[in-house]
Amino acid sequence: MNRRALVSVITLVLFIGVVAAQSRKPAGTSHNGNAFRFNKVKEGVYHAIGTGSLAVVGNGAVIVNDNDVMIVDDHVSPAAAWVLLEEVKALTKKPVTTVINTHFHFDHAHGNQIFDPSVQIIGHEFTRRMLLGNPTAMPLYQGYLNGMPGQIETLRKRIAAEKDPAARAKLQTQLQVTENNYASQKELKPTPPNVTLSTQMTLFRGDREIQIRYLGRGHTAGDVVVLLPQERVVITGDFLTSGLSNMSDSYPEEWAASLDALKKLDFDTVLPGHGEAFTDKAKIDYFQAYLRDVWTETSRLKKEGVSAEEAAKRVDVTRHKGQLPIQAPGIPALAATRIYDLLDGKVK
Ligand SMILES: [Zn+2]
Repeated sequence: MNRRALVSVITLVLFIGVVAAQSRKPAGTSHNGNAFRFNKVKEGVYHAIGTGSLAVVGNGAVIVNDNDVMIVDDHVSPAAAWVLLEEVKALTKKPVTTVINTHFHFDHAHGNQIFDPSVQIIGHEFTRRMLLGNPTAMPLYQGYLNGMPGQIETLRKRIAAEKDPAARAKLQTQLQVTENNYASQKELKPTPPNVTLSTQMTLFRGDREIQIRYLGRGHTAGDVVVLLPQERVVITGDFLTSGLSNMSDSYPEEWAASLDALKKLDFDTVLPGHGEAFTDKAKIDYFQAYLRDVWTETSRLKKEGVSAEEAAKRVDVTRHKGQLPIQAPGIPALAATRIYDLLDGKVK
């Protein structure tokens, strides 16, 4: 082969490589500035939180080991996960070998599809079953997705009417974030964990021990927490957040009991799936008390013949407002419906 032909072949190979790499890039990744801030909580342990320049929704964690990187929860879309991987490169050049899904909800597991099949995606058996099923048909996700075109329309109108340049720029960012998220959701292929556990799995990476623990039904039937015993960190997803958690797939009564199992673990720092990291363990007590009250109050109203819709408005848990972000009486409609379904035996 002469030199010219060789250069052509090399150019072609490079071109194919670039096209292949680009074709993996999902729609909707564009954003200004960093999409994530990585809050270092212990050596090699970061809480990954969205900055607002890209739709991320759930918080995750990045664990940098001696030779590899582990991600806990990969956010709301293929675009969010792809950008996460790009930005993790600023922390470390080590390869991402492992992803852990704390549960199946869209804001924590919809980035799964972007990972190479050689990456282990670990989750509870239930999480796999749910992601293999039809998770996009669930009301929680349908409500989220179907709200987007309306939000886009409203933002466009507000931008057209806004005179103040700063306010306008802010709205434009919100529009870009929503449009990108919508574009990425259209490419969604729910991808289940390729490694599952039922109660516990322990990984060892150099000196680090990583325990994945199922503590009983709660936020869903298959939430796991990730415990780093040496670092005394627990990554809790939505099993325990810094505020309230979604209840649409929950078992509120069992959840309060499962949180007792969390209390027995040895940790000093919680990295929640929503909100900032915290050290105050009293938050577990507050949330347990809230769950028990929601359950009791909703059950009482049901016994009185009140409809689920009406109960959602009337359940009064405002006595917890000093400890939890509660402003007025009422719980989400999906929470009331869920409790009614549990009491009726429609969900087991
Ligand atoms: Zn969440």
